[in-house]
Amino acid sequence: MAYINKIILNTFIDGPGSRMAVFMQGCNLRCLYCHNPETWNLCTNCGECVKACKKGALYFKDGRVKYNKDLCVKCDVCIKVCHNNSTPKYTDMSAQDIFKTAYDNRDFLDGITLSGGECTLQYEFILELFKLIKENTKLTTFIDTNGYMEFDVLKKLIDVTDGFMFDLKALNRENHIKLTGYDNEKIIKNLEYVSKMGLLYEVRTVLVEGYNDSVEEIEKISKYIFNLNDYTKFKLIPFRPLGVKGKLSNMKQFDEEKFEYLYDNSKRILQSRLKE
Ligand code: SF4
Ligand code: SF4
Repeated sequence: MAYINKIILNTFIDGPGSRMAVFMQGCNLRCLYCHNPETWNLCTNCGECVKACKKGALYFKDGRVKYNKDLCVKCDVCIKVCHNNSTPKYTDMSAQDIFKTAYDNRDFLDGITLSGGECTLQYEFILELFKLIKENTKLTTFIDTNGYMEFDVLKKLIDVTDGFMFDLKALNRENHIKLTGYDNEKIIKNLEYVSKMGLLYEVRTVLVEGYNDSVEEIEKISKYIFNLNDYTKFKLIPFRPLGVKGKLSNMKQFDEEKFEYLYDNSKRILQSRLKE
């Protein structure tokens, strides 16, 4: 069983083509700009959200908070009152459950993408699910990850995964620690291995003012990707405050002009080696 935050049956932004995206609960980084901090932790069943929900969509059963989606009006009050960066709305699902959903929709899909939170925390579930997908369908299997996993886990996942999308919050170690709370050494080692295996579909960097938005940092990341291989896409994403809690919740949207400048600069560095 795995903890599933949300499933989107058909998306075009989570890997190549039309994909089913599965967002898993739980994360091992603490990015200041996270738009979904309610995916960080598992629920402790404290009951605060049960008291706050005015629609009766939350209740206790056997000491655990349960969610009745038929009564829910999606106001997200439960998420706002949770002091644990969690949500009462995630569910336990088996690999068979998710496989069946993908299988039933296979004619409309190119593949399935596991995302988060940080999906690789529940890697045994991914191994089971992706094996089922590979044995029974032609769907491709992708993982959207922050890259912060043990190398042994990565090697197991590579056997069943067609492509990876990595977040690279910063190349500069200090900037990375400031943004996420963690060192980037492990992430870079994993990213380079995936690149060498020909499976690094995309690298993404969210631009956050004052943290990783210097011309030098973005040039450094662009040149780094340039030298990695000749196939990985690089996506620069401007910071947006929507959903962000804590320290950066009052930061304004990333400056458009600056974004365009950094984007053009990065494109100039990278476009000479992109195949398409
Ligand atoms: S979701 Fe948050 S507020 Fe609700 S019971 Fe779980 S930990 Fe408590
Ligand atoms: S979003 Fe949360 S608080 Fe709002 S109705 Fe649904 S369960 Fe209740």
